[in-house]
Amino acid sequence: MNLEELIEKVASGEIKLHEVEKYTGDKKLATDVRRKALEKKLGISLENIGHYSIDPEEVIGKNIENMIGVVQIPMGVAGPLKINGEYAKGEFYIPLATTEGALVASVNRGCSALTAAGGVKTTIIDDKMTRAPLLKCPDARRAREVAQWVEKNLEYLQEKAVSKVTKHGKLRGVKPYIVGNNLYLRFEFETGDAMGMNMVTIASEEIMKVIEEHFPDVKYLALSGNLCVDKKPNAMNFINGRGKTIIAEAIIPREIVEKKLKTTPELIAEVNYRKNLVGSAQAGSYGFNAHFANIVGAIFLATGQDEAQITEGSHGITLAEVTPEGDLYISVTMPSLEIGTVGGGTRVATQREALSIMGVAGGGDPPGANAKKFAEIIAGAVLAGELSLLAAIAAKHLAKAHKELGR
Ligand code: NAP
Repeated sequence: MNLEELIEKVASGEIKLHEVEKYTGDKKLATDVRRKALEKKLGISLENIGHYSIDPEEVIGKNIENMIGVVQIPMGVAGPLKINGEYAKGEFYIPLATTEGALVASVNRGCSALTAAGGVKTTIIDDKMTRAPLLKCPDARRAREVAQWVEKNLEYLQEKAVSKVTKHGKLRGVKPYIVGNNLYLRFEFETGDAMGMNMVTIASEEIMKVIEEHFPDVKYLALSGNLCVDKKPNAMNFINGRGKTIIAEAIIPREIVEKKLKTTPELIAEVNYRKNLVGSAQAGSYGFNAHFANIVGAIFLATGQDEAQITEGSHGITLAEVTPEGDLYISVTMPSLEIGTVGGGTRVATQREALSIMGVAGGGDPPGANAKKFAEIIAGAVLAGELSLLAAIAAKHLAKAHKELGR
């Protein structure tokens, strides 16, 4: 069959989208065939989606199925931003992929104010990836017995199950939840530089096999019982954390607030209190912040993170207060920043380059150090975004900036 015939058969549905590789034996060609078949069927041109440098051989079967091309998102950098972290030390440029005009400019302004003020201090409070399988038990008492056995046998489970399927994944804890005869075991793992979802999913399945052997009357029903919690707004991660739980804070001298941000510490603190704290409480929001999601989202897209986890990455609290000296204390607390520098989309060439802008591409030495450094840079960038937006609102510059940069 020649290429034209193949395109025709894919367009007509005679050959299914996922079967094209079988006929081409080549992933780049299969990508072109699918795109051309779609163009033919829909009577449209997908010329720009067909221009890219990512190698389909590298991503099909690992990161994407039924590939037809690549969508491009403009990427800018903000910075330099000085970070005084435990892993990130020095000045960093932050890659942001977005189509929201004014976002990069705003984060850039925040970076400038924070760096002039001496930089951002970052502190990682906790670091874990969780998976919470669901077990159906005869009754609540049996569920409690199983939970107690699991809590006492973590080392045994690490040896018998987890270490069989991963080198970097380490079972470090479990929090059981019982509802009626349902047992949810929220396992906590260290995952090195990986965000860890695949790793902990595979490890949790191995653990389930061991539990089923020990408790034949207990039925393992679902690998995720939705208490993990992955990709959904939730109180669990907000309170107990998931991924990196991290705080970024800074003190901005009054002079810098007035000169660079054109407002005062008092006004920023008041806007933060009335908007981010009171307003969010009234809204029942998990985002007691101005726009964590903007910065988290733009960095996630630039660096190959799992974009659905922007949901939990947008949780968190911004605090702003006037110090006894009259300066501005500002902080962001992010309970659930699920990120990695290896695995998933981080291996795609363009995303890997974006990670290299911050010096965090690939595995760290020791393992985990790169992901922690990356988390500190993200938290610093989020602080820059919060500072700049709060200042713009306080100075009533927000609508003007969007008129000039976003239209
Ligand atoms: P992964 O690519 O599945 O696992 C990371 C791999 O890197 C492992 O093979 C690990 O080996 C290896 N590795 C090498 N150096 C490492 C280092 N320094 N630190 C940690 N690992 C290192 O990635 P993942 O983070 O577990 O999973 C991310 C993917 O999961 C994303 O694509 C995401 O979209 C997807 N995801 C899956 C689910 C699910 O339920 N399965 C849910 C949400 C998202 P060892 O394991 O031998 O240590």
